[in-house]
Amino acid sequence: MEQPLEALTATPNKNIVLVGGGHAHALVLRSWRTEPAAGAHLTVINPSTTAPYTGMLPGYIAGHYRRDELDYDLQKLAQFAEGNLIVDKAIGIDRQTQTITLEKGPPVPYDICSINIGVTSVSNQLPGFSDHAVPAKPLGPLATRWTEFVHKWATRSDQPSVAIIGGGVAGCELAMAMSYRLRRDGHNPKVSVFDTSSILNEVGQAARRKLRIELTNLDIDIREHTNVDAITHDHLSFSHNGSNGQLQTDFIVGAAGAHPFQWISELGLATTNGFIDVGETLQTTTDPNIFAVGDCAHLTHAPRPKAGVFAVRQAPYLLKNIKATLQGAKLETFDPQTDYLKLVSLGKKSAGADKFGRFTKGGIVWQLKDRIDRKFMSRLEDLPTIEPSGP
Ligand SMILES: Cc1cc2nc3c(=O)[nH]c(=O)nc-3n(C[C@H](O)[C@H](O)[C@H](O)COP(=O)(O)OP(=O)(O)OC[C@H]3O[C@@H](n4cnc5c(N)ncnc54)[C@H](O)[C@@H]3O)c2cc1C
Repeated sequence: MEQPLEALTATPNKNIVLVGGGHAHALVLRSWRTEPAAGAHLTVINPSTTAPYTGMLPGYIAGHYRRDELDYDLQKLAQFAEGNLIVDKAIGIDRQTQTITLEKGPPVPYDICSINIGVTSVSNQLPGFSDHAVPAKPLGPLATRWTEFVHKWATRSDQPSVAIIGGGVAGCELAMAMSYRLRRDGHNPKVSVFDTSSILNEVGQAARRKLRIELTNLDIDIREHTNVDAITHDHLSFSHNGSNGQLQTDFIVGAAGAHPFQWISELGLATTNGFIDVGETLQTTTDPNIFAVGDCAHLTHAPRPKAGVFAVRQAPYLLKNIKATLQGAKLETFDPQTDYLKLVSLGKKSAGADKFGRFTKGGIVWQLKDRIDRKFMSRLEDLPTIEPSGP
């Protein structure tokens, strides 16, 4: 049985508030009980009691995982950390009174706060988007809306038409997962990917070439250099090379870009393109009592693309640095890697691996990815039994 360790210095009655149940915060909750700052209390704020793990989302969309396998349980993690979960949305932070403003509940006081709320793929500029499309981020609502769509279509004999706006790796991965799932369910879907530029720009040439073949094998309609101009309840209007067209659609996903949440811009914190500026200790460059991690943060010392791998790697530094701030100790430096292994699901139980310009694919890569993802989830799910700490 794991026993809580004595913290170096007691930090009584300090409130640490984790805003958002993103990947870094989930891992902080997981580790807090074994590395606590004595006397300090953890609170996590998230709109729901669970949050999806990004690595398994394409596999969930394709029908390889159940919803309970995709989600980690923030309630359970908060209890494990002897803290509490507030199911609500943060909509502001008053830095004078050190309180977090919630959408529904009363303000939450903090001594140290950390923000890990991710990003949104909502495209406010695109007419009809908010009424008729589903953003790829946050991941939870996408997973829910997709499942509803698949169930709804189960009783229909006509063929579904799905459009993905944004042909980056995430958009293409979703297109392959959706095409595979609908075919597996006996449909003959039309799945289209729209991009204002060319697709798969963020991977190496070899990966791009081979992923295109995978898309073609799944009969995915690729529309490059094409602008989506408007969306209605049953079609999408687009323009390409000066001519306009329409596509009948039943399900539209917005996967073009990662946009910061609007309320972040009203906090008085320094930002870059709307993402919160943090330094090498993960503290915001404006306020040392506020940390930011994951997609919502901009690493001023080492800018990186938005990827879950960075949120995961930041977690141990965030934990140490929150404690160090409470204890007046020296903070550690987070130095992100320059390249990382990109594992891309290909619809069926096959995946591609892209690193250092090389690309390998197949069932074995899927098995490797599946093992990595399940190991991550078991860290958050299989919590050790711990003796209650004190009276
Ligand atoms: C289809 C797809 C595939 C991807 N595949 C990969 C991959 O293979 N590898 C990889 O590294 N990255 C991948 N990504 C990117 C990855 O999803 C993100 O980088 C990752 O989820 C970022 O994690 P995070 O911890 O910053 O935030 P998130 O995982 O987005 O979590 C944020 C949490 O905060 C909550 N929240 C939001 N607003 C508020 C608020 N106001 N108050 C309180 N809580 C709030 C959300 O509900 C959510 O629970 C993929 C993305 C997509 C769309």
